[in-house]
Amino acid sequence: MCKQHAHLGRGEAHRTKTQSRSPAGSPKQATTTLHAHLHIPILFPHHSPTPQPATESHVNQAVEAARGAFPYWSSLSGAERAKYLDAIAEAVKRRKPELAELESRDNGKPLPEALWDLDDVSGTYTYYAGLARELDGKQYEPVTDLPPGGDYTASLRYEAVGVVAAIVPWNYPLLMATWKLAPALAAGCTVVLKPSEVTPLTALALARVFEEVGLPAGVVNILTGGPESGAVLSNHDGIDKITFTGSVPTGIKIMTAGTFFLLAEWAREWGEGKKRFVCARAVCFLLACLEWERVEGGIHAMFCFYWLLYRSSSLAFSNTHLIALFLPSLPSFLPLNKTAAKGIKNVTLELGGKSPAIVFDSCDLVRAVEWVMFGCFWTNGQICSATSRLLIQESIYEQFIAKLVEETNKIQVGNPLAEGVKMGPVVNKSQYDKVLGFVDRAKAEGATVAAGGERPTDCPRGYFMRPTILTGVKPSFEVWRNEIFGPVLSVMPFSTEEEAIWLANDSEFGLAGAVFSGEEAQLNRVTEQLRVGCVWRNCSQPCFSQLPWGGMKRSGLGRDLGREGFKSYLETKQIVTHVTANPLGWYNIAKL
Ligand code: NAD
Repeated sequence: MCKQHAHLGRGEAHRTKTQSRSPAGSPKQATTTLHAHLHIPILFPHHSPTPQPATESHVNQAVEAARGAFPYWSSLSGAERAKYLDAIAEAVKRRKPELAELESRDNGKPLPEALWDLDDVSGTYTYYAGLARELDGKQYEPVTDLPPGGDYTASLRYEAVGVVAAIVPWNYPLLMATWKLAPALAAGCTVVLKPSEVTPLTALALARVFEEVGLPAGVVNILTGGPESGAVLSNHDGIDKITFTGSVPTGIKIMTAGTFFLLAEWAREWGEGKKRFVCARAVCFLLACLEWERVEGGIHAMFCFYWLLYRSSSLAFSNTHLIALFLPSLPSFLPLNKTAAKGIKNVTLELGGKSPAIVFDSCDLVRAVEWVMFGCFWTNGQICSATSRLLIQESIYEQFIAKLVEETNKIQVGNPLAEGVKMGPVVNKSQYDKVLGFVDRAKAEGATVAAGGERPTDCPRGYFMRPTILTGVKPSFEVWRNEIFGPVLSVMPFSTEEEAIWLANDSEFGLAGAVFSGEEAQLNRVTEQLRVGCVWRNCSQPCFSQLPWGGMKRSGLGRDLGREGFKSYLETKQIVTHVTANPLGWYNIAKL
């Protein structure tokens, strides 16, 4: 059953060029290399070796191609772009079985889930094709509420933001890429997409789909690679918007990266060729190398360096220099730091979560048990919105836990392509070790393993673990506070609604929350008080392309999906026309 690392065929090395198969009349676009030299001897989830990472030169090529394609792509009407999006949706539907299987092999998610993802992928392209068409009707939309009797009329035009860098994680490889690509393309943006180094295969397969539908060259460019390639991309001058989905530490790096670049640029101007320049550059380098997990740590480190530089008598710093050194870190203090990446870039961040599920005693217990399991264990527990903190009202605690444990123990773990399997392997060894480490430390802290916590006995090899339920958890425990990104559910009882809401909100994250209750008024009260971007009532995890997706607090900035997600790829231009025959009359201009 659990044939981890099954040999599933060797992907031939390939190098694909986005073709010049653009529609008649479109300008010739720069040729983009879809950087992929694939040798994939082992899948499930695949790993060794991964495609070569994109170098700085590959990133430059891709951004240049996207910039080259932007004038043409953004000048098309929404309806013209929609035709491409519809064609992509149709091509994805045709290739659904093939793409789903590749996703399942690459990521380890059960095949039925991958098939489900593929429906969402095609549905998202179709949805944004609709919004692209609708956009045409909104151009030059009159603004009718200017003060009455004025000399002006006003209208609004919506224009594409520009070249977008889309950086995505490994848990929904194709779907996350689509959440970025579909609205960006619909809005008229061109894109450089970097899938995760852990699961790049379906994004590369999607490049074939784009070729098939004749998407003009340079409109989408796909780069392989990990943090290094991603960092070069997100700091590239030619990028107008970064849309990122991934972990909080990476989100912080993307936002603060510009700080170091600004500092380095200032240092370059300040002391070209001098000793102090070398010193300032060394500081930048050291800071960039620190890879701190928290902005506060970074700020602290910066101050230490500034102080050291100041104290160094050989460097005769003036106050101006000190202020100049301090200034680059300023964005880290301000809410404006979403624009801190090099230059002033538009940034959307979809980050991690540690979402609560609150179960009140008035709920339908059997239904709630199933949703709670689904909320934490689907996608092999590797989902940002996992409702992995379970709060159960004391009066039904024992009964609920007994049923939950009984049903969880029935979940079939194994080969994600096998019939009936509802949980595949964790994505790779480091993630597997990380998840088991969380469970071990929770046990050491005093938690009880009510279900799972170990490898299934019939899966002697591979990154398999049984869905795990931890009871006896306290709010201070690491498993309660930190995102595990694996199939681990931590449970606590509560007595009153106020206590449940307090415990639910006591988190640095605010992505989602589920509430189970038979009382409408209670559902409304809890909905209003949860500090999260998505509230699920008597369910967990449903997701629709039509609804804005994103979180509060450290779960991110901005929203993907829905009309809000679409708007984030558009700039609004106000157009004001002077419409009366009267001159301005401010300067008494003499007649000719
Ligand atoms: P990650 O942050 O390690 O990597 C995400 C992407 O960023 C990858 O493509 C990676 O190569 C790239 N990257 C890494 N370092 C970079 C850098 N310095 N500069 C630019 N790019 C860089 O995250 P992951 O492990 O791939 O994914 C898991 C995380 O994603 C979890 O925290 C999960 O909650 C989050 N996630 C959030 C959502 C959401 O919608 N909020 C959805 C899915 C996953």
